[in-house]
Order: sequence, then C-alpha cells, then structure tokens
Amino acid sequence: MSTTISMGSDGKLIVPDNPIVPFIIGDGIGPDIWHAAVRVFDRAVEKAYQGNRAITWKEVLAGEKAFQQTGNWLPAETLDAFQQYLVGIKGPLTTPIGGGIRSLNVALRKALDLYVCLRPTKWFTGVPSPVLHPEHVNMVIFRENTEDIYAGIEFDAGSAEALQLQEFLNHNLKVDYTFAQHTGLGIKLVSEAGSKRLVRAAIDHAIAHNLPSVTLVHKGNIMKYTEGAFKQWGFDVAEQEYADKTYTWGQWERTKAEKGQEEANAEQRQAEAEGKVIIKDIIADNFLQQILLAPRDFSVVATLNLNGDYISDALAAMVGGIGIAPGANINYKTGHAIFEATHGTAPRFANTDTMNPSSVILSGVMMLEYMGWQEAADGIVKALAATIADKTVTVDFYNLMENASLVKTSEFADRIIAKL
Ligand code: NAD
Repeated sequence: MSTTISMGSDGKLIVPDNPIVPFIIGDGIGPDIWHAAVRVFDRAVEKAYQGNRAITWKEVLAGEKAFQQTGNWLPAETLDAFQQYLVGIKGPLTTPIGGGIRSLNVALRKALDLYVCLRPTKWFTGVPSPVLHPEHVNMVIFRENTEDIYAGIEFDAGSAEALQLQEFLNHNLKVDYTFAQHTGLGIKLVSEAGSKRLVRAAIDHAIAHNLPSVTLVHKGNIMKYTEGAFKQWGFDVAEQEYADKTYTWGQWERTKAEKGQEEANAEQRQAEAEGKVIIKDIIADNFLQQILLAPRDFSVVATLNLNGDYISDALAAMVGGIGIAPGANINYKTGHAIFEATHGTAPRFANTDTMNPSSVILSGVMMLEYMGWQEAADGIVKALAATIADKTVTVDFYNLMENASLVKTSEFADRIIAKL
C-alpha cells in the first residue's frame, strides 16, 4: 500500500489513506504553534474518517534547528523529502543573515518551482478588525511566486556589475537616463509563460469553487512591458482558453462607471447564472483603496509577486492580522505544495505558549482541502469559528476584544478539539 502522495496522469492528486507528510516545525514560536496545530489536524482527520485515514508526519529540518544539528540551514534531505512526498507544511523560519541564503522560503519556492502563492482572506465572526464590515472581505489571492523584481537579480550600488549594466544600458540599448553615482539595480522579470500559468490557476480555482470573478491587479499603466503584459496575457488566457467559461469585463472601474453599480451587479448575476467567471482588471494602487471601499466587488485576485506581497498583508489586516492568515505555495502541474503560516518567527515570544496558532491551523485546512480531505477541513473551520465566537482566544485577539477569555496556545487547540 502506497504511503506517498503522487500526481496522476490526469493532473489530479492521488492521496492514499495514510500519506506521509513532511513538516518543518519552524523557529521561534514555530514549535508552540505546531504542537497545538498538529493535535487539531490529527483529531479532525480521525473524527471525519472514523480512523480510516491518518497522516504520518515526518519531521524534516530547516532554519535554526537544522543549522544547529547539521550546520546547514536547508539540508538537501529536506528538499528531497518535499520533492518526494509532494505535499508538506512548514512553520516560520528565521531568515539567516549573511551566508548566501536570501531567504529559506524563497529557496524552497525556487527549488520546487512553486509558482503560486495562495492566500485566502476571509473573516471569522468575532475576530477584531479595523474595518466596519470585515464580513464583506472574502478574497483568494493568487500571487505569482517566481518572477518579478523579487527574483533576486540585483546589483549593489557601485559594484562592477552595476556599473557594467549601466554602461550597457546607456551605450548598447541607448537608454536615455543619467545614473546617479551610487545606483543599485534590480531586474523586473515577467514572462508570458509565468503570467499565463498563474492566471490559469486563478481561473481554474474560480471555476472549481463557483466564484464570481478573477481580478487581474497590475501597474500596467506605468510598467507597460512587464505589468501591462501580465494583464494582457491574463486576458488572452481567459479569451483563448476559457472562452465558454469566462466573460471579459476589462477595466473594472470604467465598467462600473459606465454601467453603474446596479447594472454591473445585474450583469454579474447574469454571468453567474450562466456559470461564467467575470475577468476584470484594476491598477494596483487603486485596488488597495477599493478593497477598503468596495471589498464585495472582488473575489479571486491574480497578481504579480511584489503587488501580491503588499495586497496579502493589507487584506490579512482587514480580517484579523497575521495571527490568523494562512498561505500555500503550489505548483499545480507537478502537485508540489508547501503550506505555511504567513507570519514570521516572532522570536520574543518563543516557548511562551501564548501566540495564536490559527494561521498554521488554517494552513493545515488548506492542505487538507488540497488533498481532497474536505470533511476534515470543514470540521476544523467550524470548530475554530465556534471557539472564536465563544471569545476564547489567545492574547493577540484578547487584547482587542471585550469580555473575552484568555487562553494559551495549547489551550486554544484544546478548545477547538473539544468542538470537533
Ligand atoms: P513576525 O511575523 O515574526 O512578528 C511580528 C509580530 O507579529 C510579532 O512581534 C507578534 O506581535 C505578531 N505575531 C506574529 N505571529 C503571531 C501569532 N501567531 N500570533 C500572534 N501574534 C503574532 O515578523 P518579524 O518580527 O519581522 O520577523 C521575525 C523573523 O521571522 C525574521 O527572521 C524574519 O525574517 C522571519 N520571517 C519568516 C517568515 C516565514 O518563515 N514565512 C515570514 C516573515 C518573517
């Protein structure tokens, strides 16, 4: 009997009843939140499948723990395990200072070509929020994860490479720009293949989950050949590959201004009735104000790496902050996926058993959904929501709520388990 998750020839995951799933416990608060979360996962799976399914957790090393035990921040065995077992989960990792590793997370994403950074943002009743109607926020962000200015091609101000590149730009490409004496340079990369596979994943998600729209968020008005091209390739994918399943609106604000909100809503309902996903676009800075003004107009969001970074945190803040924001890095073609809490290691709080484990718990929920274990995932979401609705919360929420009961990380998990 196989215990390894694999990718079928039809592009669907094959998940055995007892899969081996590698996990990285994480640094700082990682062990506290992991120990709480894994008890929730195991109990939810046991409950949902009456003991007929169970995950065999396999610890793999990364971060400080790996460095202390092996002298290596990201041992080859860890990458091999994610490579072999396809689906894994990780806690937050310290970013090593110096030593040639920019970020362990970036290294993992690169090694496995995890081209989608997936971040759902949805509000749970009772979670403290800085906005009036957090219940209007229900978005899923598809952030491109391998390209853009984030790819790491940068040259230090004053370095020989930076000077050479400036010379090349001025003399070979006739770029009319006078570089100031100390100018660092970074390269922004946006490819057709990279943009299209990201938008495809977003549209597939919208179709699979009956979601009303995919919004392409970009700065194509200024960066025409990178962000502008991303938008165009996105519309091309919709029109050429999903013609019968999508309906192109184009620029969202203009559409809404021309039609008015009412007609736009009616058209939206019509598209939904026909089972079609509306594809629209919006400039990134405007998007950041519109998520505050009209969050109900957005559902699935597809965007480039840097925009996605800002947007994910802004939306996370609207529904309760990073203590409750889950995430995943996925390659839908190979099936490789690493689920992760989106916050960092919060080292000041290591071993205090005080931090909120919701982020890693909800990342596990995403993992169970990805594996097709929807019943276990639903059970956890319901129990977590009920625990928060009871106002039994960790210190981050407790400090912002009235009449709440303060519990430790481990006790919060106990409460969820009791409600499963
Ligand atoms: P951080 O996210 O670790 O912490 C910032 C603050 O957020 C904390 O002080 C705490 O108040 C709050 N917070 C974080 N997690 C919480 C939780 N689960 N519950 C309640 N409150 C929580 O950010 P930082 O201090 O800038 O970074 C610390 C380290 O983490 C750095 O080494 C950084 O590079 C790394 N980091 C790792 C990841 C990752 O592995 N995904 C992400 C971001 C930062």
